[in-house]
Amino acid sequence: MAHAALHGLYWLMTSLLLLGPAQADGDSMGEQREALVEVVAQQLKTWKDGPPEPVVLKALRTVPRHEFVPRAQRRFAYQNRPLPIGYGQTISQPFIVALMTDLIKPGPGQKILEIGTGSGYQAAILSAAGAEVFSIEIVPELGEAVEDRFERLGYAIETRIGDGYYGWEAHAPFDAIIVTAAAGHVPPPLVDQLKVGGRMVIPVGPPFLTQQLMVIDKTEADRIRSRQLLPVRFVPLTGGPD
Ligand code: SAH
Repeated sequence: MAHAALHGLYWLMTSLLLLGPAQADGDSMGEQREALVEVVAQQLKTWKDGPPEPVVLKALRTVPRHEFVPRAQRRFAYQNRPLPIGYGQTISQPFIVALMTDLIKPGPGQKILEIGTGSGYQAAILSAAGAEVFSIEIVPELGEAVEDRFERLGYAIETRIGDGYYGWEAHAPFDAIIVTAAAGHVPPPLVDQLKVGGRMVIPVGPPFLTQQLMVIDKTEADRIRSRQLLPVRFVPLTGGPD
């Protein structure tokens, strides 16, 4: 009896020791994520002069950004800034992800194409918002890593390794297209693959300098309306005809 009790106590203490730090780590990530959502919500509210789309905040609360950055960057995962993900690429600043997501208001029944999968974070946010997501990445190593990540974390996102300049004809047309690398011009194939009434969000401008985040609405089959939103800095869109 005494032996069994001691054994039980030993087991309990060992479990606490083993589970303790991991549990604490998970909790602190959750708290840090919540704090980040507050910061981003405030920034978005100031910028828009109105409340953020609820779906954006919900998605930000759900997606574990620390799972999308290299191990060495994990402790910075819930800071409001871009982080290196290898191969000279970056995971975008959470505010920019939130803003681009807010602009396209993703939801169930929507088909969205992303160019530049990178870490997969932006795609996961769109998927968490209920949209059907397709994403193209040009760096094979990143494209392969992100496929494993989506599978491990349970995101049903279709990915492809290739040049996103040309879009994804087989799944076109899309309700929205989000380009997360800086393009010198708006790729015509992407405009073609956008539905009438659809919207594209894309940073346009010279590589390695400041670009303009642009919102492009396809108002008719052969007509677009575009506006510049704010200066941003993205890694360059490679590939294309140039
Ligand atoms: N959306 C990403 C941001 C990644 S940075 C995230 O949430 O982490 C931009 C990515 O675009 C890089 O991974 C880069 O390799 C990729 N890229 C650049 N040019 C591309 C192209 N022509 N087609 C597809 N991906 C491209």
